[in-house]
Amino acid sequence: MSADKVNEQPNKDESEHSASAIFVELMRQAAAKAVSSKSKSGPDDAGKSPPGSAAAADHSASAGVTEVSLEPDAVAPEVKRIRPRRWILRRPQPSSMASGFLGTIFVVVVSTALVATLLMFFVNPEYVNPAVVRGLQLESEEIIAGVAAGNPTPVRTPHWLRRIGIISGHRGKSDSGARDPGAICQDEYGNSILEEADINFAVATRVVASLEGMNYGVEMLDEFDPRLNDYRADALVSIHANTCYDFGEYVSGYIVAISEARPEFGADAFLRECIAENYGAYVPLERSYNLTADMTDNHTWRKIHPLTPGMILELGYMLADQAVLTEDPDLLARAIVDGILCFMENVNRPTSQLEPGRHPSGYVIPAMVTPTPIFGR
Ligand SMILES: [Zn+2]
Repeated sequence: MSADKVNEQPNKDESEHSASAIFVELMRQAAAKAVSSKSKSGPDDAGKSPPGSAAAADHSASAGVTEVSLEPDAVAPEVKRIRPRRWILRRPQPSSMASGFLGTIFVVVVSTALVATLLMFFVNPEYVNPAVVRGLQLESEEIIAGVAAGNPTPVRTPHWLRRIGIISGHRGKSDSGARDPGAICQDEYGNSILEEADINFAVATRVVASLEGMNYGVEMLDEFDPRLNDYRADALVSIHANTCYDFGEYVSGYIVAISEARPEFGADAFLRECIAENYGAYVPLERSYNLTADMTDNHTWRKIHPLTPGMILELGYMLADQAVLTEDPDLLARAIVDGILCFMENVNRPTSQLEPGRHPSGYVIPAMVTPTPIFGR
C-alpha cells in the first residue's frame, strides 16, 4: 500500500490499474534494479541519488522500502516528501479502538448539547407547566414584598458571609507607638492596680469567641488597627470602659454612642439601641448619657467605610462599677453578643425605641419580630 502511493504520480497513466497489480509490478522492478546494481560498480549508485537525498535514502533503508526509490532522477525528491505522511498514518493504529469509541461519545455529547441549546430558543413558554410558573412568580413576589417590609428573607444569609468587627479598646500600640493602657486605677502610692485595656480585652475575647461559635466572620481589632482604614463589616463594636477618676460623687452607668456624623435612626443608631437594650437587660447598671467627644468623634469613625455601622460601648465606670466590670466578664460578653444578634438577626428586642421603616439614608430598621432568646435569661 505504501509502495503504490510512492509511485502514484510517476505512473499517472496507470492509475486505472488495481493497487495490488501496481505493487507487484513495483516489486518486480525493484528486484531487477537490485540485481543490476549489485552487478554494476559504485559510481553508478552515486550518480543515481543526488547528494541531498542521501539522508532520505538512509531513512528508507531502515524502513525497508529502499528499492522503491531507485527510479530515474525525478523519483528521489518524491520519496523524501511522502515519507512523513506514511509514518503519521501508521502511528495511531494500536489505540484506534479506544480512541474511536471516545470520539463517538464526544461527538454525541457535543451535538446533544448544541441541539438542546438551540431548541431552548424555539420552545413555547406555555410548554412549561402553568402551575410551576405561577408558583415561582408568587415566591419571588413574596420575597420582594418581604424585603421591602424589612422582613428576613426565607433563605438566610450564611453566617460566615457576615462580618463583625470587635475593637478591644486600647489594645495594641497607640498612634504614637507607645503602649496604651487606657484609663487606669491607682492605689494610694500611685501604682496602677487596674487597666482599662485589660477589662476591654477580657470582654472582647469572649464576644469574639461566642460569635465565632455561631459561624460569623468575626475580627478582633486593635484600637489603632491598620485594618480600620476603610473597614467594611456588617457591624463594628468598640468596647471600652470609663475613667477611674474620682468625681467626688457617685458616677456610674454604661454609655452607648455612635459617630456624630452618622444619622440618628440609621443603621448605627439601630446597632447602638440593640446593644443598649440587651446590655441594660443583663448588667445591673443604668444607662448614662454622659457622652464625650472621645465617643462621638472617635478616631475610628473617621477611618471606617461610610456604610459600616459602628458604635462604641463604655461598659461602666472603673471606680463605682469596678465589681461589675471585673467579676463576671462572661456576663458582659453575653449581653453584647445578644445586642449584636439583635442587630444582625432582628431578635432580642424587648423594648425597642426605634420605629421600623426606611430611613432617608436607605437603611431599613426591621419590624420587630417575636423575640427569640439565643441564651436563657
Ligand atoms: Zn477607652
